[in-house]
Amino acid sequence: MPKNIIVIGGGISGLTAAHRLSKDGIKVTLVESSDRLGGLGTFFNYKDKWIDKFYHCQMPSDKPLLDLINQVGLTDKLYWEPTRMGFSVDNKRYSFNGPIDLLKFNPLSFINRIRFGIASLLIRQLGKGKDLDNTRIEDWFIQLYGKDVWDKILEPLFRSKFGSHAGNLPALYIWQRLEREKNKSKRGYLKTGLKGFIDALENKIVENSGEILLNSQVKSLEENEQGITVNLANGTYLQSDWIISTVPIPILKEILPADLKKDFNLPDLTYQGVVNALFFLKKPLDNFYWQPVVNSNTEFDGVVEMSELVNINQYNNLYLTYTMKYCNKESDLFNEDEESIAKRWKEQLKNLFSDIPLNDEDIVDIKVFKAPYVEPIYPLGYSKLKPKIQSGNSKILLATSAQVYPSITSWNSSVDLANKVVDYIYQNKKFK
Ligand SMILES: Cc1cc2nc3c(=O)[nH]c(=O)nc-3n(C[C@H](O)[C@H](O)[C@H](O)COP(=O)(O)OP(=O)(O)OC[C@H]3O[C@@H](n4cnc5c(N)ncnc54)[C@H](O)[C@@H]3O)c2cc1C
Repeated sequence: MPKNIIVIGGGISGLTAAHRLSKDGIKVTLVESSDRLGGLGTFFNYKDKWIDKFYHCQMPSDKPLLDLINQVGLTDKLYWEPTRMGFSVDNKRYSFNGPIDLLKFNPLSFINRIRFGIASLLIRQLGKGKDLDNTRIEDWFIQLYGKDVWDKILEPLFRSKFGSHAGNLPALYIWQRLEREKNKSKRGYLKTGLKGFIDALENKIVENSGEILLNSQVKSLEENEQGITVNLANGTYLQSDWIISTVPIPILKEILPADLKKDFNLPDLTYQGVVNALFFLKKPLDNFYWQPVVNSNTEFDGVVEMSELVNINQYNNLYLTYTMKYCNKESDLFNEDEESIAKRWKEQLKNLFSDIPLNDEDIVDIKVFKAPYVEPIYPLGYSKLKPKIQSGNSKILLATSAQVYPSITSWNSSVDLANKVVDYIYQNKKFK
């Protein structure tokens, strides 16, 4: 009999694992708590089109993800576009795409613009051989860029993602990130939208006799002689030989058996969640894919003009712009109702782009979405603290995004990790 594996979580990580296992003839069941697959890459229906709840794009360096796209037969639907970056500081918007733009970037003094350019060019080299995992990003960047650049540009940029913890992040994490997020680069997207990709994965899993259970929240796990019992919130249970859990650490802590929780020595991680407001507009804004917004009287910290990458046909001929604020799920903003966030952010967006002008009649619709667990706030020395795949002989394995450090949390990192966990099972003698 083939072994039976339950994968917990129907985001990209869980779908990758379930796809690999079912393709290899292993009996796999994927359990997802919500009514839809995709996790943070999920979507909603808007006037007969499927729209991503959270802005997503792919990068040319996303090799494991591109391999997976190929395996489900969607490579010919993937396209690449050069995209541009903007920067909004003190209510003024700048193009930020290379040396000429940098020379014109008034928020920094001339000398700091030169320093910023040189330090950015050398940063890959300068980081080599340093213990960046144990170095605070604030300390390293003040050394490299100077205090003015840190205070004016870099600190607000990192604060937008990590709040008051920004300066304490390990420099290693940011260093890795810079490589993936070069300001002017090609970005990729699937003509099918994220939904087409998630559907293709789902179809492959089902074709290979895998089972997918939606609306099935895992409440607790018990290891016993027979294997593992998975207790669901609806009162039923499933039995399995192995488990791959892809849920965030705080949820994992709730479902793991007490002794295993101790053995895994799971770190106490605070997560940033996110609030995204999607604006369906009659016209484009600045034609920048991505624009951080610093000190410009907005609660959101960035603007992504998705229509720079995606044909407006996919949005009922409207221009889709995402605005976002990363915040803790306990924050006031996260707990505020969607309607009042939409109302306030609309005025802030209109003010920010008043020169275009952006008026009420240009804004056709606004949708607000939230996610509680997007990215952990990593402490110094996290390389040694991050959870292992397995603890002792337990057959509950972890493939959660808190393990991808120092890579950034992305679809690519999750696909890579899920593949590693499946390889790990295959190498385990007891599995064979
Ligand atoms: C605003 C935003 C923008 C982003 N932009 C990009 C981008 O441009 N490119 C990119 O590559 N990545 C991007 N990402 C990151 C990417 O979405 C994530 O890194 C990735 O989706 C994580 O996938 P995952 O499967 O590891 O976790 P998740 O997607 O979080 O999946 C976990 C799943 O587990 C389910 N679950 C939770 N608890 C239980 C339970 N008890 N029982 C059963 N199921 C449970 C959840 O419902 C969820 O479906 C972005 C994310 C956000 C929020």
